[in-house]
Amino acid sequence: MNDCTSWQSMENPVMIMRSLFDSTQGKAAYQILRTLVSAGYDAYLVGGCVRNVLLGLPIVDFDITTSARPEIVARLFPHTVETGIRFGTVTVIHEAVHIEVTTFRSERKYLDTRHPSEVQFETSILADLQRRDFTMNAIACSLLGELVDPYGGVKDINERTIRGVGNPMERMREDLLRCVRAFRFMAQLGFAIDASTFEAIASCSDKLEQIARERVGVEWRKMISAAHSIPLQQLADTGWLRVFDLSYRLEHLPKWQVFVNCYKNMTDEAAQLALLARLLNKTEQEFGEWLRSLRYGRETVATGRQILACSMRLQIECTDHERSGDQTFIFLKDMLFAYGLQIAIQGVHIHNQLHPAHRIDETRVRDVCNAMPIHNSKQLQLDGRDLLPLAGGKGGPWIGQMLQELAMGVLHGHLPNQRQQLMDWAKTQIAERKQNGTIQS
Ligand code: ATP
Ligand code: MG
Repeated sequence: MNDCTSWQSMENPVMIMRSLFDSTQGKAAYQILRTLVSAGYDAYLVGGCVRNVLLGLPIVDFDITTSARPEIVARLFPHTVETGIRFGTVTVIHEAVHIEVTTFRSERKYLDTRHPSEVQFETSILADLQRRDFTMNAIACSLLGELVDPYGGVKDINERTIRGVGNPMERMREDLLRCVRAFRFMAQLGFAIDASTFEAIASCSDKLEQIARERVGVEWRKMISAAHSIPLQQLADTGWLRVFDLSYRLEHLPKWQVFVNCYKNMTDEAAQLALLARLLNKTEQEFGEWLRSLRYGRETVATGRQILACSMRLQIECTDHERSGDQTFIFLKDMLFAYGLQIAIQGVHIHNQLHPAHRIDETRVRDVCNAMPIHNSKQLQLDGRDLLPLAGGKGGPWIGQMLQELAMGVLHGHLPNQRQQLMDWAKTQIAERKQNGTIQS
C-alpha cells in the first residue's frame, strides 16, 4: 500500500496544482479548505475533482472531505445549506460557488444494497477513503497539494483501470449503484474495468432492480453524453444493459454506430433520444415508458414522443411512398400544423440522418412554415364559442372536429381566414349535419 504519494513524484506538480485552484470554483474550494485547516481540522479535496485534474480533464464539481463535524462546518462558514446532514454533508456557499463539504465517514450495514443503514463519522481521512467506490475516486488532495492515495489510485489512473476499493465483491454488493457508475466511468474516461471488479459487477446483475431509478437516470445521462464509448458489449455481457431498459444484440451494433455518428450533430436532448428510439425500433409508447423509467422530465418525454412520431410520419410519407412536389407540400403543411416548427425541424433532422437518400431540405420546411396562413386553430378568426349558437347551443365533440376542418380549409387555401366566411361555411355544414343526424338538434 502506498499511503501518501506527493505530487512531487509526478511530472509537473505545480502546474497540476495551479490548474486545480485556478477556476472560480477552485478558488472557492481553496478558501474553504484554508478556513477548515486554520480552524484545526483536516480537510481535503476528494473524488472526481482530484481524479480529473490528474487526467487533465475538466472538473465537474469540487468535493471537500473534512474531520470537522457538520455542525462545526455550518458554524465556520456564514453561508451554508444542510444538504444531507444525516450523512454529514453541508453545502458551503462561497461567493456564489456551492461546494459540498462532507465529514469523514464510514458506512455500515447495507441493508437494502442502496443506502448505508448507518453512517459513522470518522477522524481519519484513511477511514473515509475506505468507503469510496473506486481507487481512482479514493484519492485525497491537501491544501499543499499532497496526495493521500492508500489504494494506488494514481497508478490505476495511469493504467486507465477502474478498480473497486478493497474487496470488489463486497464493495459492489453493498451498493449496486457502483456497478452502474463503473460503466459510466468507462464511457466517460475510456478506462477498462479490472478483472476481479468486472467479475464482481457481473455477479450482481440479477439484483439490478434494487437500484433507485433516479440514480440510474443520473448515471445514464452522464453516460449518454459520452455515447461514442458506451461499453455496450460489456454491459450486455454482464447482464447490466437491462438497467437502462435497453436491448442490445450484436446485430444492433451498426445501428448504435449510426447513433454515435449522428447524435453529435444534434443539440436537442429529446431529439437525440428519439433518434436512438428509432434505431432501436421503439414505438412511441415504449419510448415514453423508457424515458420515464430513466426519470426524464415530463417535458422531455412529451417533446421526445412528438419528435419520434413526427420522424416516423416523415419516413412513411417521404421514404415509403413516392410523392409529387405538391403532395409533399401538402404533407409538410399538415406536419407543421400538427407538431409546430421546432418539433418538425427535429423530426426532419432525424429523418435526414436515417434516410440521406430522401433528404428533406430544412430551408424548404421553414419556407413552407412562413407561408402558412395559420399555424394552429387558435389563429382562426372564430372559435368554439362562435360555433355553439349556430347549433342551438348544444356542445359536443363536433365543435373540435369542425374547428379542425375549418383550420384545414384555411391551411390549404380552400377557405379564407375571415370570420364571416368561416361562419357561413360553418352554418351550411351544421345545417347539413343536423339533417343527417351527426349533430343533434
Ligand atoms: P463526477 O466527475 O461525475 O462528479 P465523481 O467521482 O465526483 O464524478 P460524485 O457522484 O460526484 O462522482 O461522487 C463524489 C465521490 O464520492 C466519488 O468520487 C466517490 O469517491 C464517492 N462516491 C460517490 N458515489 C459513491 C458510491 N455509490 N459508493 C462509494 N463512493 C461513492
Ligand atoms: Mg463529483
